[in-house]
Amino acid sequence: MKRITMAGPLTVADYMKEVLTNPLSGYYMHRDVFGSAGDFITSPEISQMFGEMLGVWMVNEWINCYNGQEIQLVELGPGRGTLADDMLRVFSQFPEIASKVSLHLVEVSPALSNIQAIKLVGDPDSDKEDAYQTAKESKITAIEDGGPYREEKSKYGPSVSWYKSLADVPEQLSCYIGHEFLDALPIHKFHKTEYGWREVMVDVDPQKEGLRFVLAPSDTPASKAFLHVSPSEERSNLEVCPSAAIIIQEVTKRIVQKGGYSLFADYGHSGEKGGTFRAFKQHKLHDPLEDPGTADLTADVDFSYLRRYTSDEVSVFGPIAQEKFLTNMGIGYRLQALLRSASQDQWADLISGYNMLTSPQQMGERFKFFSITRKHSNDYAPAGFTDLHVKDDTSEGS
Ligand code: SAH
Repeated sequence: MKRITMAGPLTVADYMKEVLTNPLSGYYMHRDVFGSAGDFITSPEISQMFGEMLGVWMVNEWINCYNGQEIQLVELGPGRGTLADDMLRVFSQFPEIASKVSLHLVEVSPALSNIQAIKLVGDPDSDKEDAYQTAKESKITAIEDGGPYREEKSKYGPSVSWYKSLADVPEQLSCYIGHEFLDALPIHKFHKTEYGWREVMVDVDPQKEGLRFVLAPSDTPASKAFLHVSPSEERSNLEVCPSAAIIIQEVTKRIVQKGGYSLFADYGHSGEKGGTFRAFKQHKLHDPLEDPGTADLTADVDFSYLRRYTSDEVSVFGPIAQEKFLTNMGIGYRLQALLRSASQDQWADLISGYNMLTSPQQMGERFKFFSITRKHSNDYAPAGFTDLHVKDDTSEGS
């Protein structure tokens, strides 16, 4: 508020950045915001099956395209570290990849990086306190030349390094994963008026102790740089996320130069939605301008916009619905296997987790998967993006 009073209205992008990742007061910076006691729950937190499917996806691509080579798993915005933990557990079942993989986490939040370290470094048999101590005593390095700010050995064996930005991660063969990461990056909002398109700004509301949206009276640097409206555009609200475009460009460049593949999963659309900027507090929609820093801010990811920042030198798959991706990865078979050895309580959790992840009424349809890989011939698609064909063991002769 003080910043706006002194310097004038902020773009929504600056507002989001300030509210989410300001080092002193940013929403993500000082606490655990996930789970039933937090503000929102994400797929990896709902069921271990989610991370397992992504772990199998990464192993499968590695076997198909990079068998035997050293590979980095680079996760952007790892939250509590649950997805990375589930993926590393999958790798420990595949010794060929387990000895070749290292984990690289891009995380701006000191609080969350500590929670990730507790999860990934702690001995699975020791209690939380011991794991926390191990994490605290381990080496926290100063950032030198943009390298890692923390380095550990995970409880599964592979090393784990933390970075503030993707640009700091070594440029090597990698699998890039971003789950509910792109939606947290700052967006610019634009609104169509009778005078043309105007950027939506955040200003102090003189009527009350609070903030309000206003329209910029003329072009802004962001409207000049980022607003490209096609003549057939029917929407009157547009959201543009240049930070996500930068990530996609960087991942594309790295895949072209060093090889690799990526998977981004988020709620999103293919260029048909606008006006999706919103906040969540304690699992409920919240006014994004009320009590900044106490609620998560987010906007749907526009995958058609991101596709423009890939290149002809890579292959792009999706977006496809989460239900389809997980079903193609065999989540139904994994559920059956887990149910066979589950207690009654676990049984209920597994079923409800499965339904939440895959049901179109819950997360199955709104969440989409999008992948950029090294250039492949036309008939190759990574697992998950093609229908699962299962050999029927009961057929004659077997
Ligand atoms: N992937 C996790 C968490 C999603 S929330 C899950 O699905 O559960 C977004 C995550 O991105 C948090 O870990 C947050 O601290 C991190 N984050 C947000 N903005 C970031 C930025 N600009 N750079 C790096 N990490 C960021």
